[in-house]
Amino acid sequence: MAKVLCVLYDDPIDGYPTTYARDNLPKIDHYPGGQTLPTPKAIDFTPGTMLGSVSGELGLRKYLESNGHTLVVTSDKDGPDSVFEKELVDADIVISQPFWPAYLTPERFAKAKNLKLALTAGIGSDHVDLQSAIDRGVTVAEVTYCNSISVAEHVVMMILGLVRNYLPAHDWARKGGWNIADCVKHSYDLEAMSVGTVAAGRIGLAVLRRLAPFDVKLHYTDRHRLPESVEKELNLTWHASPTDMYPHCDVVTLNCPLHPETEHMVNEETLKLFKRGAYIVNTARGKLCDRDAIARALENGTLAGYAGDVWFPQPAPADHPWRTMAWNGMTPHMSGTSLTAQTRYAAGTREILECFFEGRPIRDEYLIVQGGNLAGVGAHSYSKGNATGGSEEAGKFKKAG
Ligand code: NDP
Repeated sequence: MAKVLCVLYDDPIDGYPTTYARDNLPKIDHYPGGQTLPTPKAIDFTPGTMLGSVSGELGLRKYLESNGHTLVVTSDKDGPDSVFEKELVDADIVISQPFWPAYLTPERFAKAKNLKLALTAGIGSDHVDLQSAIDRGVTVAEVTYCNSISVAEHVVMMILGLVRNYLPAHDWARKGGWNIADCVKHSYDLEAMSVGTVAAGRIGLAVLRRLAPFDVKLHYTDRHRLPESVEKELNLTWHASPTDMYPHCDVVTLNCPLHPETEHMVNEETLKLFKRGAYIVNTARGKLCDRDAIARALENGTLAGYAGDVWFPQPAPADHPWRTMAWNGMTPHMSGTSLTAQTRYAAGTREILECFFEGRPIRDEYLIVQGGNLAGVGAHSYSKGNATGGSEEAGKFKKAG
């Protein structure tokens, strides 16, 4: 029987919700492109309820305990005295989320002698040292597509929010002001601007599709080019590399995974290639950008705005410069964990666990590492190596809080 260690974010400060704003979720048959939604044999939760926080337990307790397994759920994940680090030593399976990542560093892998499966209840397994997983034969899987559209919606919202200067203008309304000139001195139309995405995978392509009706000029760069029919349909300009694309764009959105090849791809040097007054929206991973270079670029006017919901490490320390830098539209990591998305990633987590325990193959599209190598979607989108360096900084949040 297995010990399953599950790390989830805390419940709301006013307690686990007992009521919700809406009564149900709209039904979706399949994802764009035809991939089916998760297909667990059963679920033990009500769709649309809070599943991603500790009391929600991803709706897994009944299923796991009735099959004789042990489930430990905690939000205490950082530092050597954390519940996570103590429970890890004999855990067979770790479930974690990008929103509140339990970093599986090389040191933690060395302690986790029984570990067989590192499961991401979401998308993006960069909080797991993939090289250690490869070397130790640990399977890494995530719930591909579960929240890609959730994030794409968020990207469009944040692009509009930055360009139109929504958040500062909203602040004036909240403060009781009517300062129109203050609201609009940094406000433009998106129409006719050039918007480029680094990566046109599930999220990147969904962003392009959603932006096309805004009459913008669309650009993208990706390791693999989209079909010609899609390029034509959306009138896309392809660039061979991010650095080739940056000079053409008023808005750049980052939608690629974090792996050693993409770490700090936006830095002091590459920022010199951006148009003055460009905007960046990054809901992919904080570490794609050099933290201090971004803050400086906002101060000196290289960038006109930066928004996103991803930081490094997570949670970000209270003194992280992105919390307070000029013209930022940052939020805690939340775009991929709407109540809608939670239902899908909880069901996908259950599907992967059922496959694992019953000895059935995990879907290829969910696999990142298996059998000592990158596998499935991981072989397509990731590179080998470790991107968790520096994650111990996350412990500072606890001390500051
Ligand atoms: P996909 O796997 O569908 O797309 C990723 C794309 O990135 C692929 O097209 C891949 O290219 C491309 N890519 C990888 N490396 C590079 C590179 N060096 N240069 C250019 N393109 C590259 O994933 P999703 O679109 O669903 O998600 C993307 C990322 O968004 C996730 O990895 C995660 O980090 C983040 N995310 C954030 C969430 C949030 O809540 N904020 C939620 C979900 C995801 P190819 O396959 O052609 O090699």
